[in-house]
Amino acid sequence: MAVIVFAESDNGVYKKSSFEAVTYGKDLATKLSTECIAVSIGNKGPENLGTYGADKELNVSGDVFTTFNPQAYAKALSEVAQANGGDTIVISQTYTGKSIAPLVAVKNEAALVTGVVDMANTDSGFTVKKTSFSSKAMAHISINNDKKVLTIIPNSYKINSDGSDVSAEAASVSVTSDAINTTIVSTNKETGKIPLTEAELVISAGRGLKGPENWHMVEDLANALGAATACSKPVSDMGWRPHSEHVGQTGITIKPNLYIAAGISGAIQHLAGVGSSKVICVINTDPEAPFFKAADYGIVGDAFMVLPKLLKRVNELKG
Ligand SMILES: Cc1cc2nc3c(=O)[nH]c(=O)nc-3n(C[C@H](O)[C@H](O)[C@H](O)COP(=O)(O)OP(=O)(O)OC[C@H]3O[C@@H](n4cnc5c(N)ncnc54)[C@H](O)[C@@H]3O)c2cc1C
Repeated sequence: MAVIVFAESDNGVYKKSSFEAVTYGKDLATKLSTECIAVSIGNKGPENLGTYGADKELNVSGDVFTTFNPQAYAKALSEVAQANGGDTIVISQTYTGKSIAPLVAVKNEAALVTGVVDMANTDSGFTVKKTSFSSKAMAHISINNDKKVLTIIPNSYKINSDGSDVSAEAASVSVTSDAINTTIVSTNKETGKIPLTEAELVISAGRGLKGPENWHMVEDLANALGAATACSKPVSDMGWRPHSEHVGQTGITIKPNLYIAAGISGAIQHLAGVGSSKVICVINTDPEAPFFKAADYGIVGDAFMVLPKLLKRVNELKG
């Protein structure tokens, strides 16, 4: 018996959500009186995963893992889990995590619960809390299967870095390119931007900004704060911003520590993707805008005045 954690890295850089997953795996392993084994695939990050709680760190390498391929990664993770008695597999709910978790669950004949936001309750059975109905409700799911795959929403679990170093060992798997049905021919990657799903701070704007030419206010504030930028659906539909920034029910679901929304009404479909943010700050000229009901801080004011003032103040504080 062991808890296996997939430690995802991107070109030699571990994602922050991987450290959250490892801490989650360690805390779960402690509850289950077993060990936590972190598994990295391909070009892994330099950090020692023991720091975040791993009792053992295994790395799978090989040509087939140079670029991310869901089939190859899922096969490798499943083989390592099976070889190490891993009956619970923890995966962060990133794009990569979402694409491999169902494959891993099938290969291990495991129960899959996605969208987990808290530590499992193991007092009697095994119950996990997860978001449901686009985060409008929480569900408590009882898993009645020895084998489990859990995907953890990024920013849901606090990282603990009090662990001790472990040395990474190589793990061998039988995955070859012949067994992979798809080949990724090329990838176009956005560079220099903080990925929305991993951002701790997000500055978002809606139709209240009147046009794409005004987005420099959002970008300037985001750059000053080290934040990612997002937008409402109509904004991306009109081509003011790329669809990759669209958050909400039909867009990306995010859970940053701070979400600043300027000129967004706060329609239920928008809130579905951002309502779980830890702190929400809303800037809107209309004091009756629905978003204020979900806000922790509200500024009734013109975004064209408020955003530059916020930027000035942030720069003063930084200076
Ligand atoms: C099936 C379905 C799925 C949907 N999915 C999504 C989704 O995923 N994400 C999403 O965002 N929407 C989604 N929508 C659309 C959603 O219902 C709203 O229409 C949309 O969120 C509104 O976008 P908005 O707030 O930018 O624009 P508006 O509704 O036009 O609101 C603009 C706001 O800006 C304020 N404002 C105007 N000028 C200023 C100013 N100078 N300074 C400050 N504030 C100002 C106004 O008071 C207003 O509150 C969906 C709709 C449907 C039917």
